[in-house]
Amino acid sequence: MAKIPTLKPRLATHAFAPRLQSSAADAGRVEARGTTAERGYGGWWQRESKAFREHYTGCVYCWLDGRSGPVELVDHLYPHGLRRDAQSRSQKALFRLKTYWLPSCHDCHRSFKAQIEAEGIEAIDALAIRLGLDPLADDELRRACLRALTRNK
Ligand SMILES: [Zn+2]
Repeated sequence: MAKIPTLKPRLATHAFAPRLQSSAADAGRVEARGTTAERGYGGWWQRESKAFREHYTGCVYCWLDGRSGPVELVDHLYPHGLRRDAQSRSQKALFRLKTYWLPSCHDCHRSFKAQIEAEGIEAIDALAIRLGLDPLADDELRRACLRALTRNK
């Protein structure tokens, strides 16, 4: 079997790769994060997730499978379990942690990614490694993720 490529060295040449030109939206990112710290889904998310989706050219999970697919949503590699009516600090932190935001299509999110999540957090760690990312290390955030995974069952 061919060696599975990591994300970083091949970013520039693959279908899901970040677009090379930077935008005004990119420049505003850090600032936006600080000013809307108390919100979950809302203006911050609308703005940041849109900028993120526009930054990538394809679905990362399709890419893993050797296909090309559209960027239709931002997947949180580690599910956060955030709901409008119930937000803990760790859920919000996980929700906002862009390290684990990934460009995805609807089909992969419903099928491939849902299957990984059903297998549990170790399967998500393994997927992170396939993507060239360090698995989530923060204990508090891992507990938030585990709660989200349990609730999804
Ligand atoms: Zn896909």
